[in-house]
Amino acid sequence: MTTIYDNFIDGQWQKPASGKYMVVTNPATGEVVAEATEGGADDVNAAVSAARVAFDNPEWRDMPIAERSKLLYQLAQLIGANATELAELEVSSSGGTISRIMGLDIPLAMDLLMTLAEEVKQFPFVETLPPKPLPEPVHTQVWREAIGVCGLIIPWNFPLLLLLFKLAPALATGNTVVVKPSELTPTSTLRLAEIFSSILPAGVFNVVNGMGPEVGEAMSLHPDIDKISFTGSTAIGRRVQKNAAETLKRVTLELGGKGPAIVLPDADLERVAYGSLYGVLLNAGQACESGTRLLVHESIYEPLIERLVALSAQVPLGNPADPATGMGPMSSHTHGGKVLGYIESAREVGARIACGGNRVSVPGCEGGFFVEPTVIADVTNDMKVAREEIFGPVISVIKDKRVDDAFALAHDYDYGLSAGVWSEDVAGAQDIARKLRAGSIWINDWHMMRADAPFGGYKQSGYGREMGRYSLGSYLETKAVTTAFERDSGKKAMHNLVHKHIA
Ligand code: NAD
Repeated sequence: MTTIYDNFIDGQWQKPASGKYMVVTNPATGEVVAEATEGGADDVNAAVSAARVAFDNPEWRDMPIAERSKLLYQLAQLIGANATELAELEVSSSGGTISRIMGLDIPLAMDLLMTLAEEVKQFPFVETLPPKPLPEPVHTQVWREAIGVCGLIIPWNFPLLLLLFKLAPALATGNTVVVKPSELTPTSTLRLAEIFSSILPAGVFNVVNGMGPEVGEAMSLHPDIDKISFTGSTAIGRRVQKNAAETLKRVTLELGGKGPAIVLPDADLERVAYGSLYGVLLNAGQACESGTRLLVHESIYEPLIERLVALSAQVPLGNPADPATGMGPMSSHTHGGKVLGYIESAREVGARIACGGNRVSVPGCEGGFFVEPTVIADVTNDMKVAREEIFGPVISVIKDKRVDDAFALAHDYDYGLSAGVWSEDVAGAQDIARKLRAGSIWINDWHMMRADAPFGGYKQSGYGREMGRYSLGSYLETKAVTTAFERDSGKKAMHNLVHKHIA
């Protein structure tokens, strides 16, 4: 039987004002796995009201740090205790492989909560500035306080993990949240809200499912949402920022990417081949920080293409629910068609499809859309496959003659989320890393996400940082509290500026 999910508002399931529901399908099989609300502005209003009441409760907002730290540990434990169920919901709606979700997403989500549980104990929520005797003695404290009600908008590619990137710091700093999951993948988020409600006060974590133009739009325009944290495409990110400007909401944007990796002539080809395929095939390339552009020195270009082709053939494509599967389906047929369209566009302008490039059928998953691991050689930086986010298992390999050329090519694009260098000369690679303009630079591997390292974009990949202590500041307002100690008006030098009669 299909599970039907209502919105989760004020600690309980609530039916959508519209009374309407939409289906959630398994991208690997095309089967309907659940129904969830088709929410709208009325549901967002209800969720924001609940979140506001919860925020105004000092027991939540001003919870002692030791207690908040303990709560974050308990939330991590709840994810661990329910990992199998959450991972199955994630697989059946997003098409991510069970091995990735159990091996990467769940541990990283738990690690992030536990990292923040430690960080909050040391974070300068209250700082005392050094005394400043002139013009008169004052004492100033800097207080960092929760912003208020935060709207978190999440994409479909890593639903639970990307939710935690926002939810963990928002709760760690005493905010309350209204979450809009992607309408394609709401099930794990809704279930998590129910699980967390066993220890979170009602109204702290609310979820409204629905389409972007209704729920997302209502959130980014809502006068009582104080901050929006958005992860998704650059086009929608721009729109969210414009909407948020109406009420001057605080905004964090995690957007698209087109990660370049510079392969120097001294790189270990076997390691590059394994690592760069891992960099682009994880989640079948549907990851914002994938390494999708390989900039390879001419002296090693053909041998590397050969290794990439040979290894691509060995990647086990299959049902994401099977632990033996290394790569699963595209998120939908429409998206799969778009990925094939990109490959075709490269063929048309003279690039060489060294391997892959086709849709494949997976036994038992005939309703899914699977694309072969695809290596495109002889790509030039003006081609669409070198500039636009394909979001599929496709690596574009570009030839260069000098490190300077590679460096120029690496920067000739709009994004700046991830970038990398492959070289046996680690000092030289560090030197290049310092010059690369992207939020995460990876040397000799890819996807090296850490719960304690900042993650976010340069240029049109967005702004703001998630993960670790770097994320806490963007969920806080900063207040200076200054106390005067001089009681004698005659000794207050600044009063003299107005009260001319004081001697
Ligand atoms: P998307 O922009 O289409 O949707 C993201 C979310 O925004 C969804 O919940 C969607 O319903 C919502 N939305 C749609 N229209 C909206 C509107 N008008 N107002 C407010 N919200 C609206 O992106 P997607 O297809 O779900 O995800 C893929 C994109 O996300 C890729 O571009 C990828 O690079 C990016 N991404 C970035 C990161 C990062 O950390 N930088 C991580 C993962 C994905």
